[in-house]
Amino acid sequence: MKKDIRSLTLPELREAVLAYGEKPFRANQVYEWLHKKCVPGMDQMTNVPKYLKERMGQDFHVGSTQVVTRQESKDGTHKLLIRLQDGSLIETVSMPYRDWTTACISSQVGCAQGCAFCASAVGGFRRSLTSGEMLEQVYQLNREGCGPISHVVVMGSGEPLNNYDNLVKWIRMITDKDGLNLSVRSITVSTSGIVPRIYELSHEGLPINLAISLHAPFNEKRIEIMPIARKYSIDQLIEACKYFFRQTGRRITIEYSLIKGFNDGADDARALSGLLRGFQSHVNLIPMNPVRESRFRESEIRVINRFRDILEKNRINVTIRREMGRDIDSACGQLRWHYMEGIHD
Ligand code: SAH
Repeated sequence: MKKDIRSLTLPELREAVLAYGEKPFRANQVYEWLHKKCVPGMDQMTNVPKYLKERMGQDFHVGSTQVVTRQESKDGTHKLLIRLQDGSLIETVSMPYRDWTTACISSQVGCAQGCAFCASAVGGFRRSLTSGEMLEQVYQLNREGCGPISHVVVMGSGEPLNNYDNLVKWIRMITDKDGLNLSVRSITVSTSGIVPRIYELSHEGLPINLAISLHAPFNEKRIEIMPIARKYSIDQLIEACKYFFRQTGRRITIEYSLIKGFNDGADDARALSGLLRGFQSHVNLIPMNPVRESRFRESEIRVINRFRDILEKNRINVTIRREMGRDIDSACGQLRWHYMEGIHD
């Protein structure tokens, strides 16, 4: 089976090129075309000899992702539906802010976490993405004129820490000076809380932003909406976050989606404040976005503001996230893959 050439680091590409009896500088040329100029295929690699392209074409696929549809929201958010080599479909979003554009990429096709309020869980899990497929989402946004992308959040479908090796490799490649050269600090990884992987990530020497999907301050309540909470308690999770902060010096973001009548009470806000007291973190309140299959609804503005006020009174850093792209189903928890396949395959 052909391999994904975009998943090769420069040293790995060099090894492949040397095996063809080529000089190492050819690897640098190809790498630059792939990761700096982000060309969609080999045709554009004008300074690479034809025979080498043919040889590489036998072992690797290059033009392996296609943009199937592109939607634009009123607020300037774009959503791409991308078809991968094996026919799987994923969604990628770009969000323009005043001074930069952030990409929101997927780490898996579907998701196995089964969170009760999230559309990515609806179709179940198919497979993890390669590092190259994660890179391609950013490259495709740039090619489509939705960039230039300078920040990336891994908050699309999938649980990034369950695709750990490819995720870490992707971070190293997208921040590589021979590639897009993004700043490590401009990368955010969001996780439902895979505790052992948080410890592992603490030791990678990568000062990224880590965001934790907490959504409830009590274990019993969290278990009701997030199956992963059965495996790791909130205390274990917060302990791992503190460790990550000590190792990297990076403040943790706590994501809290407010669900009407479920986790938006004054008692929840007080318990959350208690949990985070004295811990360098920042709470991001996300009004729950509507998902057809979910029985949960979003909290009222008045309730959201009250929740924020209680946190502030307890001197917890908090902001209410400005949701983007709702009108094209590209806000948090609205990305999905399963139903589209019937339409496009
Ligand atoms: N699996 C990772 C990545 C998903 S990130 C994680 O769980 O963190 C997307 C964020 O949006 C997560 O915090 C997720 O819990 C949240 N989310 C999911 N569905 C949502 C919805 N319908 N409304 C608001 N936020 C939602």
